[in-house]
Amino acid sequence: MDPSPDEQVSPQETLRQVRRALEDLVLFEGRQFIMPADMSQPAAAPDQIQVEVAQVEAAQVEPAGEPDSQMMEAPPTPQASGHDSLEAFRQQICECTKCELGHTRNHFVFGAGSADADILFVGEAPGADEDQLGEPFVGAAGQLLTKIIEAMGLRREDVFICNLLKCRPPNNRDPLPEEVSNCEPYLKEQIRMVAPKVICCLGKFASQALLRSDLSLSRMRGQQHTYEGIPLVVTYHPAALLRNASYKRDTWEDVKTVRRLFDGVEL
Ligand code: URA
Repeated sequence: MDPSPDEQVSPQETLRQVRRALEDLVLFEGRQFIMPADMSQPAAAPDQIQVEVAQVEAAQVEPAGEPDSQMMEAPPTPQASGHDSLEAFRQQICECTKCELGHTRNHFVFGAGSADADILFVGEAPGADEDQLGEPFVGAAGQLLTKIIEAMGLRREDVFICNLLKCRPPNNRDPLPEEVSNCEPYLKEQIRMVAPKVICCLGKFASQALLRSDLSLSRMRGQQHTYEGIPLVVTYHPAALLRNASYKRDTWEDVKTVRRLFDGVEL
């Protein structure tokens, strides 16, 4: 049946709807799925970005607070490469037993990716798969995060991925305030060391911790935030997207913002 006159959709609106549908496909099926290989590169390729400038600027970011004296006695030497210092930091903290989770974990999940990353993703805490493998975001939610990163025109190894908590809470329960306060200094030190151009918080817990906020995720997302001078984007946790597909649209908008910040585009 033809639409009635008031239901008629303008060509611009049709085009907009098609674009949105294509973006959804790109996000969840991968860029190669609908685009020829030569069109699948983002408008500004990562290697066109002035990494040196970003690193100099980022290096001026102040440390996030007093590091924990017990676990962070020997700060990495300034001469060490980003990778070496991050690895030295991992070794300093990976035996942590400041809270009960240190006694129940299989693996301390430090984080993974590039020590020079311009984008740093922060999740909540390792799940069962991550606890088994010692790597962040490797289960179902992690596979979706990998797809999202690829839809942004990047590879997982180009970014840095970590969590607010480094050890798995039993039965994936929510992090307790005491666990957050024990573990948060590790995250802050990682951010200081990686010095990303943009932080993307996945879900409520990471966002509330870094923003010192008790607002709901829906109140925090869609707003411009900074953490220690670094732009911070709040979005849904990929596990929430697996439970509720209607969050995908907003998530795609958020990751486009992350990509724009990475590209140095004024928002
Ligand atoms: N959920 C998280 O928040 N982090 C992981 O590493 C995996 C699932």
